Amino acid sequence: MTDAVASAQHLFAEQYGRRPAGVWSAPGRANLIGEHTDYNDGFVFPFAIDRRTTVALGDRDDRVVRVSSTFSPDTIEVHLDELTPDAVSGWAAYPLGVVWALGESGADLAHVRGVDLHIDSDVPVGAGLSSSAAIECAVALALDEHWGLGFDRPTLAKVGRLAENRVVGAPTGIMDQSASLLGEADSGVFLDCRSLDADVIPLGFAEAGLSLLVIDTRVSHAHATGGYAARRASCEAGAAALGAASLREVAVDDLDRAQDLLDDETFRRVRHVVTENQRVLDTVRTLRELGPGAIGPLLDASHVSMRDDFEISVPELDLAVETAQANGAIGARMTGGGFGGAAIALVIDDLVPVVARKVVEAFAEHGFREPGVFTVHAAQGARRDA
Ligand code: ADP
Ligand code: MG
Repeated sequence: MTDAVASAQHLFAEQYGRRPAGVWSAPGRANLIGEHTDYNDGFVFPFAIDRRTTVALGDRDDRVVRVSSTFSPDTIEVHLDELTPDAVSGWAAYPLGVVWALGESGADLAHVRGVDLHIDSDVPVGAGLSSSAAIECAVALALDEHWGLGFDRPTLAKVGRLAENRVVGAPTGIMDQSASLLGEADSGVFLDCRSLDADVIPLGFAEAGLSLLVIDTRVSHAHATGGYAARRASCEAGAAALGAASLREVAVDDLDRAQDLLDDETFRRVRHVVTENQRVLDTVRTLRELGPGAIGPLLDASHVSMRDDFEISVPELDLAVETAQANGAIGARMTGGGFGGAAIALVIDDLVPVVARKVVEAFAEHGFREPGVFTVHAAQGARRDA
């Protein structure tokens, strides 16, 4: 038994005074490439990481669902007959939102018994590694199996998204939940956001002696809502002006025509999305044909496109990427929605300590807050642990 499972059982017992009936877990995720492509019906290529959220579950005799987390001193409970999207708020909106979303997605919850849930996690919160999907997917899989609902994983991913959209109130896509539920060791999840078809593609990082370094700038992207909405609006306006239902339908070869039709800013927003979709496809093909050591230029080009065309980088992200590249990273890019958050760098294992140290030094020299720097590895998706 792993430490995390023993710890989850122990924490549950401390909280509720009995042993849990089972323990489930789901990972956070990092996006290897494919940024701001999801809401344009495009391609993304994230992977599940080796940081997980565990859910220990115990049965109850009544119809109450109770949730607690090491993250918070509060225990929150709701009766299954009184669960609506407005009935819960704060962090409990994630786990209880999933309960509501299961019912909304066709599960018959009229006769199930309540449960006690205790949540524990080593996924950093707010670092762009989707602690939110980790908690949603762990709870969704735990309840699906415990209540015998029989949903498949793509459906559970939609349940997680529905909880986040309607109960938490965050207009996020399906990428994070897909990675958390479908990920496999040393593999990425290549996702078509139009059809929702997902393919698990071996990354081969471990065999090639490569690690992915995450550089969390600790610049909060909380203030980015306006910038995010403006980018979405530009993409929609660009697609409409080009007569396309979404930018997914615009090819790299169409960009000359787009430049004639669009104002400069809208054109650059469109160019980012169109070329980024192509870079995702190229990354998958390059991995298959040449291996992971050859994808660096695609990661680097993705960063330049987000910095110059989509304009969602910040000086801290640029410094993280440039310093990693200058010290031997195979490729590096900012990851996530932008305006803060984290960068990733693909680095030969032996060079990880050097790159990490150089990045920390560069941040100090520039008077930036010390970044969080750590490696992540592609790991198995959600599972039952005990
Ligand atoms: P992230 O980039 O980490 O997904 P979000 O803002 O989307 O950031 O989600 C973070 C929120 O998810 C937290 O503020 C909290 O409400 C909830 N959350 C994440 N992990 C846990 C946990 N272990 N216990 C309770 N709530 C959690
Ligand atoms: Mg999140």
